[in-house]
Amino acid sequence: MTDCIFCKIAAGEIPATVVYEDDRVVAFDDLSPQMPVHTLIIPKEHHDNIGDDIPDDLMGYLFNTVKKVAELKGIASSGYRVIVNTGDDAQQSVHHIHVHVLGGAPMNSGSP
Ligand code: C5P
Repeated sequence: MTDCIFCKIAAGEIPATVVYEDDRVVAFDDLSPQMPVHTLIIPKEHHDNIGDDIPDDLMGYLFNTVKKVAELKGIASSGYRVIVNTGDDAQQSVHHIHVHVLGGAPMNSGSP
């Protein structure tokens, strides 16, 4: 999608601090980190959010990438939080599926 900022990051047209990349996904550090570790994982193909009709294996692939990112960022054993904001009530601001991986310090309860 031509005006999607995450498509541009995936295409290398906008710089990002890339943590991990393969043929299906890119993981990069969030520009406005909310925790010592705050990395986003996106699929290279565009989908607005998980409400879209996405390939069956794509979310599994993204979540397997979470484990790789946690290892690369050194938070696999200490624990981390995974968030996928979806739609307006969840305050999704970039309409290209992305998985937030947050960690690096103790957090408050995960309840809303
Ligand atoms: O889930 P949500 O859509 O709110 O999250 C979007 C995230 O993308 C934000 O945390 C924002 O800081 C991040 N972002 C980024 N680089 C950009 C644009 C947004 O890291 N160029």
